[in-house]
Amino acid sequence: MFSMLTRMTTGCHVGMRLASSNTGGKLLGKVAIVTASTDGIGFAAARRLAQDGAMVMISSRKQKNVHAAVRKLKDEHLNVAGVTCHVGRAEDRSNLFKETLEQFGGIDILVSNAAVNPMFGPILDTSEEAWDKIFEINVKSSFLLCKEVVPHMEARGSGSVILISSIAAYAPMHLLGAYSVSKTALIGLGKALAPSLADLNIRINVIAPGIIKTKFSEALWKNDTTRKLAENTVLMKRIGTPEECGGIVSFLASDDASYITGETILITGGMQARL
Ligand code: NAP
Repeated sequence: MFSMLTRMTTGCHVGMRLASSNTGGKLLGKVAIVTASTDGIGFAAARRLAQDGAMVMISSRKQKNVHAAVRKLKDEHLNVAGVTCHVGRAEDRSNLFKETLEQFGGIDILVSNAAVNPMFGPILDTSEEAWDKIFEINVKSSFLLCKEVVPHMEARGSGSVILISSIAAYAPMHLLGAYSVSKTALIGLGKALAPSLADLNIRINVIAPGIIKTKFSEALWKNDTTRKLAENTVLMKRIGTPEECGGIVSFLASDDASYITGETILITGGMQARL
């Protein structure tokens, strides 16, 4: 039933905000990189950053997805460019930075959004291979992206990094054990990096979404029975939208969040996770 959670797929989500040309906004003049931004939460975050004035580099593994996402956002008169980047590949990450610098002249915002879950079942059934894959993409790539972006943000004099975790970080999901641990590690990564980055005038924060309507989570909302079960775990009795994550990403990237670092914001409609 939940096998769809074992892969990341493509598709598009319609923005709830009216698209605007980026001639103004709180992120005017800023340059943002969003990984895994051709679909779902990454796409909505990229769109919202661009709507708020940023120049945004779109990326994911597949050229056709990058092309489609860039086309869609350009049709909304947003200032975006695109490049393929599998976050687990060093040469792809390096090219992502190179292309961004060439297209937009600097980097101010990094949203590390890519994640995989190749394993669905009890945590003790997780193979070493699946464990390594989950930690390589979800955690190690995020760390390396952070490390690699630092000199570019230092050159600008400031920066903002946003990591995408999950409510599963606080409340591990029984059949998504290794994935849950990787998302807990991301919260630890944000906390561990915050002091070093603060010294460089770079903020780092984490968002932890609950159940958000994307391809990744479609097993939880595609049929009425599972959707109702999922909705009943949410105080607001509905599943969230990618756009409800995009707005928080843009807030954290902006000067409105200038005194926030090392924090995690839950976007869950009130799912019980922590005090
Ligand atoms: P999604 O809608 O399925 O989108 C996945 C995106 O990731 C696609 O653009 C895909 O494009 C890209 N991608 C997959 N593997 C990649 C890789 N190795 N390198 C670069 N790009 C890659 O997923 P989503 O639900 O928005 O998930 C985004 C993030 O939110 C993930 O970190 C996930 O753990 C987190 N999250 C989601 C939920 C939820 O309920 N949806 C809840 C909590 C947290 P290509 O196929 O072209 O690479």
